[in-house]
Amino acid sequence: MRKNIVAGNWKMNKNVIEAQQLMFQLLEYKKNNAANCEVWIAPPSLYLMMARDLYENNEIGVFAQDMSEHESGAYTGEISAGMLESIEATGTLVGHSERRQYHGETDAACNKKVKRALDMGLTPIYCNGETLDQRKAGQHLEVVKNQTEEALFTLSAEELKKVVIAYEPVWAIGTGETASPEQAQEIHAHIRSLIAAKYGQEVADEISILYGGSVKPDNAKEIFSQPDIDGGLIGGAALKMDDFAKIIEGFNS
Ligand code: PEP
Repeated sequence: MRKNIVAGNWKMNKNVIEAQQLMFQLLEYKKNNAANCEVWIAPPSLYLMMARDLYENNEIGVFAQDMSEHESGAYTGEISAGMLESIEATGTLVGHSERRQYHGETDAACNKKVKRALDMGLTPIYCNGETLDQRKAGQHLEVVKNQTEEALFTLSAEELKKVVIAYEPVWAIGTGETASPEQAQEIHAHIRSLIAAKYGQEVADEISILYGGSVKPDNAKEIFSQPDIDGGLIGGAALKMDDFAKIIEGFNS
């Protein structure tokens, strides 16, 4: 179901004490403030169980930053969908640009991961987006179309409705550069129209599409106000409670 979401991707940051502190702060914040969106976090996998135990009433969604495309076996360093399901994680990021850039993740692999996650009842947050060169060459619509189709369009309509998409232009991630609200809206509307063309408008209207790329307290509200933007995937600004809270409040009128 389409909903407003603010999700924090902690990447490879924070030791266990710092992680626990931020998780507590988030819980306190959620208890004391009526957020107009779902609040999710993707801490390093080492801390997932700690988050799961702390958020026992599902106040905050708990996501892995990645998971294996394989079911189980000799894949050193990986974690599986079954493991995430067994700790009652909410879901996992799939295809983050840093996984694509440093670990060669392809959309074919993303497709397998999304399916495995769904089979285990997990919510995949499928990330896509163009590089700076692709944007400069005017290829952004085409790139995002190909990524979306390859990773998602083998799913049934019922499966697709359970996926969250995060459009994250690579040139805006961690760079301080943000896509303008109009640039982001253009791609979000494009993704929704691709889904509508293949699965019908009703399905397209049910899918949450998040924007990611240097979302900060001072630009969140304007980005979230775009008609096809249903929230944000937040990197750097998710690491400080004050900044993350102000971004969540981007959904307050
Ligand atoms: C991200 O890692 O998904 C991200 C959007 O990072 P940042 O907000 O730091 O650009």
